[in-house]
Amino acid sequence: MADLALITGITGQDGSYLTELLLGKGYTVHGIVRRTSTLSRSRLKHLFDNPAIYGRQLFLHYADLDDATTLRRILAKVRPQEIYHLAGQSHVGLSFEIPESTCEMTATATLRLLEIIRDLPGSPRCYHASSSEVFGNPAQVPQDEETPFNPASPYGCAKAFATQMVRVYRQAFGLFACNGITYNHESPRRGENFVSRKICRAAAAIKLGLEKELVLGDLTAQRDWGDARDYVRGMWLTLQHGTPEDFVFATGQFHSVQDIVSAAFAEVGLNPESYIRQDCRFLRPAEPHRLVGNPAKAKRLLGWEASTTFDALIREMTLAELTALAR
Ligand code: NAP
Repeated sequence: MADLALITGITGQDGSYLTELLLGKGYTVHGIVRRTSTLSRSRLKHLFDNPAIYGRQLFLHYADLDDATTLRRILAKVRPQEIYHLAGQSHVGLSFEIPESTCEMTATATLRLLEIIRDLPGSPRCYHASSSEVFGNPAQVPQDEETPFNPASPYGCAKAFATQMVRVYRQAFGLFACNGITYNHESPRRGENFVSRKICRAAAAIKLGLEKELVLGDLTAQRDWGDARDYVRGMWLTLQHGTPEDFVFATGQFHSVQDIVSAAFAEVGLNPESYIRQDCRFLRPAEPHRLVGNPAKAKRLLGWEASTTFDALIREMTLAELTALAR
């Protein structure tokens, strides 16, 4: 029987790359989508438009994360061997503006899904998309799977709750449930309101004469930025491992927002100083510090390593924006 996977958040950056990875491995993939007023789902369009894939190897089901009855019905019908739970409100800055819905969709929804999985026959394996934001302002640098949680945002608190619940359900009910604690990961498919994409898009737009300036918050903010395609490979490897465990996926390297600016503007041959304006309205109420991961366990047990350099990633993202805008 072919491998059968179900993905929540299939229309997102990671969901779309994970779908491609699983289809390439011969999986049948079921995705959960929520009802929106547009049907664009641009990250999956190339798969929908392929009659050899959509309706044959790839299937979509409507359900919102707060709709337990529908989620339960879909999971009982599909009976996946692997569940990748990626859906949620994924923007850290925005979580300060919409904390209740962030916690509902990220924390409670994960618990809801664990409860459904607990009742399913066949014990499917489950991956939960945790985040480095659970560490917030960590006592230890770099962080690993044993680092205590100290979240500094509503998003980080919600992810910390969900991550710990995955651990509790693994220990208490014997679920094959795992957390991938991923650090920031980007790609040309990153949401447009994330800083990496915003910078790459602005550099391309200014180069083409479509925009005049780029307004940013804290240029010194640092993160461990990697390539989303490396991280979805880590998700799959997590569920192929013999025992259910948590893994940190990270590059182990710090880069600042200023580094993204320098790399993106260098790619289009412009001096960023002439175009950047700082605005305190873009500062976060609390900015986590020193978030950088130690992926040694993932390397040792899964053979996982980040394969893309920071410069190559920003170059690819900037060139993708140039191509899209020129079109
Ligand atoms: P993303 O592009 O924002 O995708 C989020 C997905 O969740 C989308 O498919 C979205 O659907 C879906 N979703 C949101 N609310 C929903 C709801 N109420 N019901 C059903 N679906 C809902 O995020 P991503 O970058 O792919 O990240 C995937 C996961 O990894 C997220 O949980 C994120 O928090 C976590 N994570 C990401 C990073 C990173 O750097 N990318 C780092 C650490 C952890 P729509 O398309 O309809 O909006």
